[in-house]
Amino acid sequence: MKKFFIAFCFCIVSLSYAQQTEYVDFKRADALLNIKVDSSKVKGKVSYHLDILKSVDSIFLDAVNMSFNNVEIRVGETNAEAKQLNYTYHNQRIYFAYQFKKNSSYIISLDYVVKPKQALYFLQRENEPQVWTQGQGKYTSHWFPSLDDVNDKMIFNLSAIKDSEYNFIANGIKTDDILLPNGQEKVSYTMQKPISSYLLAFVYGRYHKKTETSNSGVSLEYYFYPEDSLKVEPTYRYSKKMFDFLEEEIGFTYPWQIYKQVPVHDFLYAGMENTSVTIFSDAFMVDAIGFNDKNYVNVNAHELAHQWFGDLVTASSGEHHWLQEGFATYYALLAEREVFGEDYFNFKLLQSIIELSRQDLSGNGTSLLDPKSSSLTFYQRGAWVLHALRSAVGDEVFKKAVKNYLKKYQFASVDTSNFIAEVENLYGQSLSYFVSFWIKNKAFPYEEAFAILKQQSSFINEYAMVDCEAKTSKCAEYLKYYVSDEAKIKVISQMPSLVTSQVFKNSLKVRQAISEYVTKIPEAIKTDYESLLNDKSYVTIENALYNLWVNFPLERSKYLSKTRHIEGFSDKNVRMLWIVLNLNTPYYEADNKQELFDELVRYTDQKYNADVRIKAFNYLALIQSCNEKCLSNLEIAKSHHNWRLVKFAKEFSKKLEKE
Ligand SMILES: [Zn+2]
Repeated sequence: MKKFFIAFCFCIVSLSYAQQTEYVDFKRADALLNIKVDSSKVKGKVSYHLDILKSVDSIFLDAVNMSFNNVEIRVGETNAEAKQLNYTYHNQRIYFAYQFKKNSSYIISLDYVVKPKQALYFLQRENEPQVWTQGQGKYTSHWFPSLDDVNDKMIFNLSAIKDSEYNFIANGIKTDDILLPNGQEKVSYTMQKPISSYLLAFVYGRYHKKTETSNSGVSLEYYFYPEDSLKVEPTYRYSKKMFDFLEEEIGFTYPWQIYKQVPVHDFLYAGMENTSVTIFSDAFMVDAIGFNDKNYVNVNAHELAHQWFGDLVTASSGEHHWLQEGFATYYALLAEREVFGEDYFNFKLLQSIIELSRQDLSGNGTSLLDPKSSSLTFYQRGAWVLHALRSAVGDEVFKKAVKNYLKKYQFASVDTSNFIAEVENLYGQSLSYFVSFWIKNKAFPYEEAFAILKQQSSFINEYAMVDCEAKTSKCAEYLKYYVSDEAKIKVISQMPSLVTSQVFKNSLKVRQAISEYVTKIPEAIKTDYESLLNDKSYVTIENALYNLWVNFPLERSKYLSKTRHIEGFSDKNVRMLWIVLNLNTPYYEADNKQELFDELVRYTDQKYNADVRIKAFNYLALIQSCNEKCLSNLEIAKSHHNWRLVKFAKEFSKKLEKE
C-alpha cells in the first residue's frame, strides 16, 4: 500500500491461526455476491474447499457482524450430498462443529448478509453509486467470511450480480458475463493462484477502460470515469513501460493473469496493491498539466512492484513489513529511474536520507524490524537497505538472489532471514554485520548512505557542494551557469533575492521554485514573474497568482481575469484561491460576490472529495465565513469513512468553537 502521510503498523497476532493451519488447509473459496447499493449491504453465497491435515472437531472462519443461512457441508466432491452443518457464532468468528477426518476433503457452503462497518465502503459519486474494498489494515472478514491471517493463502473466485450499467471489477480474469432474465448481469472472475485474504478486492461503479498488452502478453487494463477520457493518457503514462521494465529487472515473470488499475473516490490511501487489481485514489487522475506536478507514476510503480513483493511473497508478520514496503519503494524507484533518469533516482535517495536522519534526530527512529515503525522507516529505510545491499554485493548477486527468493517462497509467506539467506548463498559470505548495521540498529546509518550516493553520483556531489548557507560568494554564479535544476532550486530556496530575469529562462521545475520562494517581487522581474501564470503547472500558477495579487494591488483585476477559468488539480486548488482573492478584491466584479461565495461553500458538500472539502473549510475559516451551510457540512464530514477528513472536521470544529 502507498500511504498519503502517516505511520501505521500492521501487527497481527496469530496464535490461534497457527493452531488452525496445522489442521486445515483452505484451498479455494468460490463466492457469489449480491451488492445491495440501496441498503449498503452484501448478500453472499460462499463455498470453501478444504483439506483436513489432522482430524479435528471444529474449524472457524473470521466473519464480523454477519447473519447466516443454509450452512452446509459436503464430503469430498461438489456433487456430493449436502448436509446441514452445525455452527456457533459470536459476531467475530463462525465455528463449524463436525468430525473432520484426516486426509479428507470437504466443502463448506453458507449464505450470509452483512452491512460492513469497514473494509468495504459504499459511496455516492456524481449521484451514482460506487463501492470498493480495502483489506489491508481493515480486515476482509468485515464483508467476506474469510481468514484474516496473512499466512493462510487460498484461491478466491468472485462472482457478482449487478445492474448492467455498472462494472464489477475483481481479482483475476473475467470468465463470464451473463445477462439474467431480470435484466441484471452475473459476472464471474477466476484466480488460478492463492493469495492472502487482505488482497481480495472489488470495485463496483461506472467505468470505461483502455487496454494495453505487456511485452510478455499480459493484459493491462486502465479504468477511468466516463468523463475522464482526456486524463487517461497523462494518468497512466509509462504504465506499460514500467511493467515491461519490472518484469525484466526482477527477472521473474509477472505472477498473475492480468493487471487492472481502478481509480476510486475518497480512497483511504494513495493506492492498494490488491492482487491483479490495484485500487488507487481518483485524486491521481490528472490532465496533461497536472501530470507535471502531481502524477500517478510513483504510486503506479509502487503498487505494481507489490504484485511480486507482498502479493506473491507476503511478510509473515508486522516485524517483516519492510519486505513489502521497502521492496515496493525500491523497485518503484528503479522503474522511475527508467522513466526520469539516474539523477532523479539519486535525488530521491538523497531526500530519503535527509528525512530519515531528521526522524532520528527527533528521537523517533526505530529498527526496521520494529512493527511499530513509521511508514518513513518501512518504506524509505527499507528501500535504502536494498540499495546499500545491492551496492555491497553487486548487481549480479543481488538480482539473482531476489529471483531465487521469489521462486522459493512464491505463494507463501516470508521473513527477513529468508531473504538474507538467499543473498548469502550467492555472495558466499555472512551478512550478519550488514543486517545489524542497516536493518536491526535503531539509528539509520545516514553517513554511510550518503557516502554510497556520493561515490555513485557526480550529480549528488555537485548538489552537496552548492550550499549558499555555508558559502555565499558563488551563489549568483550558480544561477547563471550550468548546475543541475535541483542545485539551482536549492540556491533559490536559500537566497531568493538572487533571482534575476535570466533565472526565469530555466525549466518548469526551477520556475516553480521561483513561485514558491520569491514572495517579494522586485519591479525588475515583474514581467517575468507574470509569465509564471502561463506555466503548465497548477502549483506554479497557484503560487504566482497569490504572490502577484499581494505584491501589486493595482493590478489585481488583470491577474484575476487571466486565471478565471483555471480549475487546477482535482482538489480545485487554483479555483478556490481565485474565489477567495476575488472576494477580497472589492472593485472586481462587485455584483458577483454572493454567487462566488456560495460556490466556495458548496465545495464543503459531501459530493466533493475529502481534499476539496478540507480546502474549502480552510478557506472559509481564513475569511471567517463558515456559515450555517458550512457548519452543517462540517457535522456531516465527521462521520465519513476517510479518517483524514474526520480528524480534520473534529479539530476544525474545536477551533471554531474557541474563536
Ligand atoms: Zn506499499
